[in-house]
Amino acid sequence: MKSITTFDLQYAHRFYGFKGEAQYLHGHTGTLTIEVEDSINDGVNMVFPCNEIKKTAWNLLKNFDHALILREDDPLLPAVLEVYEKQGIVTGHPQNTNKGPAFKTELATAYPEARLVVTKETMTVEGMIKIVYNLLKDKLNISKITFTSGENAATEDYVTRNNIERCPLCGIALNEHGVCIKCGYKK
Ligand SMILES: [Zn+2]
Ligand SMILES: [Zn+2]
Repeated sequence: MKSITTFDLQYAHRFYGFKGEAQYLHGHTGTLTIEVEDSINDGVNMVFPCNEIKKTAWNLLKNFDHALILREDDPLLPAVLEVYEKQGIVTGHPQNTNKGPAFKTELATAYPEARLVVTKETMTVEGMIKIVYNLLKDKLNISKITFTSGENAATEDYVTRNNIERCPLCGIALNEHGVCIKCGYKK
């Protein structure tokens, strides 16, 4: 069985080097759907609480929301950084609060203080799915990710390999000590 969560991300990007309108900076509301597959957790009669999937994913992915996403070789990147620097917002702003922890994977680096994500590859919907899977694959039993943005949509299926132990009372993942951080249940 699967538990499914969906949420929106608003972002700006462009396809550097692409021949078409998408080479110009523009914005989207993208919709991300994450499907988590496992056995039914008997205690709570669910696979995984959807709000917990959302919380786990959103903690990292909010760095993409209201953010600028540029490829690492895009000349707009140093230009934007220069402006942010001059304006004094490159290292953050008191009203820039919707930030997750900075992260760096082989596909993407997040700079939450500047609301910037730098990617290795062009951030197409396919590219976003690869980035999201890479960020969350060890935290959730992801069986499918779908991302739609404007008229573009992509989806990818995965074979789940994790053996994530869940709290029989809350359904959330137990930590490395076998403890539920929500209710205190101990295995
Ligand atoms: Zn676009
Ligand atoms: Zn619990």
